[in-house]
Amino acid sequence: MLGFVPEAWVALGVALFLIWRWSRRRRSTPDQGPERSPLVWKDLLDDRIELIARLTPEQRERFHARVERFLREKRFVGCAGLEVTDEMRALVAGMACLMILRPGATLFPELRQVLIYPGPFLVPVTEPDEFGLVSDEPEERVGESWQGDRVILSWPDVESALDGDEVNVVVHEFAHQLDDEGDAGEGAPLLADYSHWSQVMKTEFERLRRHRRPPVLDPYGAESPAEFFGVVTEAFFQRGPELAHHHPALYAVLRDYYGFETA
Ligand SMILES: [Zn+2]
Repeated sequence: MLGFVPEAWVALGVALFLIWRWSRRRRSTPDQGPERSPLVWKDLLDDRIELIARLTPEQRERFHARVERFLREKRFVGCAGLEVTDEMRALVAGMACLMILRPGATLFPELRQVLIYPGPFLVPVTEPDEFGLVSDEPEERVGESWQGDRVILSWPDVESALDGDEVNVVVHEFAHQLDDEGDAGEGAPLLADYSHWSQVMKTEFERLRRHRRPPVLDPYGAESPAEFFGVVTEAFFQRGPELAHHHPALYAVLRDYYGFETA
């Protein structure tokens, strides 16, 4: 019997102690991942998104609260075999939330999910071309925004935006989301007063349509007021100093809307 063998009692005691210590260690292991440890994603965003350094302490606090909520409420879906990492989620949420720092801004209320592809993706063509024909061939895209429901992004293009490329697919597509919230028609987000906004945007849109080689704005913005808002938002985030130099009135309108300087 066990009770009469002292060595067996010692061995049992040691075994129980080891099990107790192992279970304590397992319980105290923290969960990993940027969305669960705020310090990690805050450092990552500071490191990759230069504009964060320009925020006031109050805006910074609002920014962190919005990123946290974005990560909690919006679903990320990896497409065509892409596995969405916590880093990808934090970086997309970080760039999108820089666009909603004005007090009272909502967190893209219609948006449910962000789909990420490992590269440019094909979409069926639904819009007729200049001859009124709709192509059978799908078109290649690096980003899309569907009214309300979703934003679709090509990951390598998100990365090049983070590296300073003129094209920023994230702010372009999320500008379409903001546009869809507005009630003043295409190319205008929700605003208290549209008078000055409309005047500046209309003048600058006409100017881009006339310009053969615009110095800052992507000619694609001449397609429609909605694309114009997407394109000028990209210029504001990626080429602030040049935008302020060549289009001071447009820069000022966007600075007042987004709430901070990029020049
Ligand atoms: Zn667009």
